[in-house]
Amino acid sequence: MADTVLRGDTLDIAIEDGKIAGIGPELPGAAEEIDAHGLHIFPGLIDVHLHFNEPGRTDWEGAATGSSALAAGGGTLFFDMPLNSTPCTVDAAAFDQKRAALEASSITDFGLWGGLIPGNIPQMAELADRGVAGFKAFLCDSGLPEFPRADDLTLFEGLREAARLGLPVAVHAESQEITEGLTRRIGNGSVRDFLNSRPVIAELEAIQRATLLAREAGAKLHIVHVSSGRGVVLAAEARAQGTDVSIETCPHYLFFTEDDVERLGAVAKCAPPLRSTVDQDALWTQLLAGTVDMVASDHSPAPPEMKTGEFGRAWGGIAGVQSTLAVLIDRGYHCHKLSLGHKLSLGHKLSLGHKLSLERITSLIASEPARRFRIPSKGAIAVGMDADLTLVDVSRSVELRPEHLKQRHALSPYIGSTLRGCVVRTIRRGETIFVSGEIVARTPGRFVRPDLCTV
Ligand SMILES: [Zn+2]
Repeated sequence: MADTVLRGDTLDIAIEDGKIAGIGPELPGAAEEIDAHGLHIFPGLIDVHLHFNEPGRTDWEGAATGSSALAAGGGTLFFDMPLNSTPCTVDAAAFDQKRAALEASSITDFGLWGGLIPGNIPQMAELADRGVAGFKAFLCDSGLPEFPRADDLTLFEGLREAARLGLPVAVHAESQEITEGLTRRIGNGSVRDFLNSRPVIAELEAIQRATLLAREAGAKLHIVHVSSGRGVVLAAEARAQGTDVSIETCPHYLFFTEDDVERLGAVAKCAPPLRSTVDQDALWTQLLAGTVDMVASDHSPAPPEMKTGEFGRAWGGIAGVQSTLAVLIDRGYHCHKLSLGHKLSLGHKLSLGHKLSLERITSLIASEPARRFRIPSKGAIAVGMDADLTLVDVSRSVELRPEHLKQRHALSPYIGSTLRGCVVRTIRRGETIFVSGEIVARTPGRFVRPDLCTV
């Protein structure tokens, strides 16, 4: 007998020992029966890009609170970035420390990114041995002196080493020369100066350079948080020419614009920054056209005192880990409208569809992350897969209030927004970890490493 059966509108799902054991109409009963009628069942959301800051900065977030927020947003697996924790994950010893800390505190499964910084290329092999998902590099200052940016030679040689190890390199693509030069000239103390100091061209230049170096190195490249439609197009052009590149964007670029930074202040400060409506429409166009591979939160929280006060000094990072699925369902599935001027200039591309199907959302948040980062046991609902399932009422509207947030600090630019798409229950390897607004996990999350034998 199965441990659990989910009763859905058309099919039931049976779970045994944390795996999906059967899918079909009217499966036999089980010890635990879950009523999923009227709900859409997604594979558990996989967030490939976030910062839980553990060990070392748990006053900023921590994996216990961070993974609880992820679970409340439908997530069952995350990949933690190598920086904002202390030490940064740039060698095996730091990896071991982080893995142990997260095994003790995370309620969802997790993977770890290693860092690529000047001087640590000799440590990439030991990080690969430990099971990193890939290596993260910054092309501009990271905001943390202990995680310096990769110069072009470091990036190129790191890409070659990553290729040898069979792992991708993820890049934060903004030009140091452009952002630094503009910051020196105009400052970044006001919202407008900050936005102007990090223009789209800084992203485009860095994407072009990274894709060139990756192609020459024969490496897999992952471009994190692409903020503009033009950035997506540039990366897609490189892909068409043979670069093995995947493209990630974040919900905040799809939901907020630069006007929202003016309105909300530091809580909406991030890098690359939020963009104009025109750039946002172009990003939506690429998302709807299928050019973007995945959507990740880039949840990067900080204590309230670092997100208030003077804008120029505030931490750049948006704490939105709980809202990814709701943004995609509300803005993509229910109602996507491009602004008219842009729509007219797009021609036949729009025939690809004006909205995101639930199947496309599944691909963006689960199937494609699992495929790209080679986690074959996750990312789909099929017999033999981990029973990671997210039950969503796609038509229920919820206004996000501070008390809904499971993260450490109830700071998020989404507070006060009403979104259709409410996560009702999150199941991780057969165990309900979130239901009816409460975290109910009994067992901890597990470390997940890429299976380098899968293609
Ligand atoms: Zn990030």
